[in-house]
Amino acid sequence: MAPPVKITYLGGLGEIGRNCMAIETEGRIVVLDCGQMFGGDDLPGVDAVLPDLSYLIENGDRIEACIATHAHEDHIGALPHLLEHVSFPIYGSAFTLGMIEHKLRESRLLDKAELRLVNDNDRMDVGPFDCEFLPVTHSIPSGNITALHTKQGVILHSSDFKLDLTPVDGRRTNLARIGALAYEPGIRLLMADSTNADSPGMSKSETEIGANLANLIRGQEGRRVIVASFASHLHRIQQLADAAVATGRTLVTLGLSMKRNVKLARDLGILRVPDHSIRDIDDLEDLDQSKVLVVCTGSQGEPRAALTQMAIGASRWLKLDDNDTVVFSSHPIPGNEAAVATVRNGLARHGVKVFHSGMLDIHTSGHGKQQELQTLHSVAVPEWFVPVHGEYAHLVAHSDLARKMGMADDRIVFCEDGDQIEISDDGIEHLGSIGGDHLYVDGTVGDLGSAVLGDRRVLGDDGFCAIVVHVDLERGEIIAGPDVVSRGWVEVPALVGHETAVADAVEQDLMKALDDRDVTIEKLGQVARRAAGRTVNDRTRRRPMIVPVIREG
Ligand SMILES: [Zn+2]
Ligand SMILES: [Zn+2]
Repeated sequence: MAPPVKITYLGGLGEIGRNCMAIETEGRIVVLDCGQMFGGDDLPGVDAVLPDLSYLIENGDRIEACIATHAHEDHIGALPHLLEHVSFPIYGSAFTLGMIEHKLRESRLLDKAELRLVNDNDRMDVGPFDCEFLPVTHSIPSGNITALHTKQGVILHSSDFKLDLTPVDGRRTNLARIGALAYEPGIRLLMADSTNADSPGMSKSETEIGANLANLIRGQEGRRVIVASFASHLHRIQQLADAAVATGRTLVTLGLSMKRNVKLARDLGILRVPDHSIRDIDDLEDLDQSKVLVVCTGSQGEPRAALTQMAIGASRWLKLDDNDTVVFSSHPIPGNEAAVATVRNGLARHGVKVFHSGMLDIHTSGHGKQQELQTLHSVAVPEWFVPVHGEYAHLVAHSDLARKMGMADDRIVFCEDGDQIEISDDGIEHLGSIGGDHLYVDGTVGDLGSAVLGDRRVLGDDGFCAIVVHVDLERGEIIAGPDVVSRGWVEVPALVGHETAVADAVEQDLMKALDDRDVTIEKLGQVARRAAGRTVNDRTRRRPMIVPVIREG
């Protein structure tokens, strides 16, 4: 009997974001990715959502390494939070490690993790596993597919995956090696990206997008051009740089992360721009405005990003007018549509000419669509399959796709956040769930639970109404109050009448309750809450948070 391998899915199976899993054998753990997710409108005040790290923290002494597949936030964003508790080496490509190094330096955690460089197609021991790192195409440079050679066979993790046959850097997905592994020794388990499993066809190649962008920029003669893109999408930025050089424009970077990533990529030779063709935003005013191409952040309508600031006329660097063309070389991530629309409207108010991916093919996904996923399945011929990296519906779509590829139902193991599986000589068994809670970050980690979030939603929707009363329990009397204080409930002219009505109702019910000599402060609180809630609802049909404050003496 070979020792079993256990995999615990800590995040990313049920949402796009916070990808993290623990792969272990004989008591030794390797963490594969440790990402975060950003808070949305349904999570008021939440900066980030982390995987439930408690399993990793509790078993911290058994963690021997972390593999970082690529440098997107949904794969590396939670590393600082884990490294606050545990120390381990991190394996990744030069670009991935460069991005992680910056992150760890910012949080003063560089001494907690030794960064170990992985080159394309390297094979090395990582903790208890003999690992191969294969190049993969995606919307960020130098991502890696990981093939873990275990005593239970090869486990292949696709990383964020697309099949770009003409990638900007010429670094194609190493399908040949996957095919070779499939032939000898065979792939026991495939875990693959499900993000676009419900989209038919193939994603467009990044170079096709570059040609369209170049044409668009060529047509903007005499105008200043500003392009918003993800700061980590260095291949897109490479194509913008090429277009700038071809049209005699200077590439100007705007936004801290844009500047930092461009520097890192140039240092590593991943981004090639001649020195005289690239400048920092500080130099913008010295340049002929019709001969610049500004690349900036804010393609998702992020409130503090450069483009958003321009749209509201608050940018330190750029005042937009009808000589400007703004290009969104991106697609709004689900949930960001409204914020992006607000930015577009702001730009239109300045007379700016706007182009976006709904008008022209100037963006492509970094995640493979159905035909690309089917190609991976047919090359890898896995014995078992677990769809990962996706919302619930994406995981279902990927399972369906695998079935369509001829995989038997009982070989597709459907897992969600918190689920554990065990690979043994007998096959793969679903062990159950260890939880998989969301961990919210708002200032510090872990001080925010679903109860607080529930309260925030109520406060945001209907406001609050507090009732303050002083009582003497022995005499059964109200000494002072009830005083009613509310916020965000109703407008001022009507407010006084409503507050008085609430105070009267609470007073009446409290007097009755105080007749009982055994009544407690807690019980009086309930009485006050009920009386106030009834009155508030009768008069305003709203449900503000009712906060009774009953004091004795
Ligand atoms: Zn990614
Ligand atoms: Zn991802």
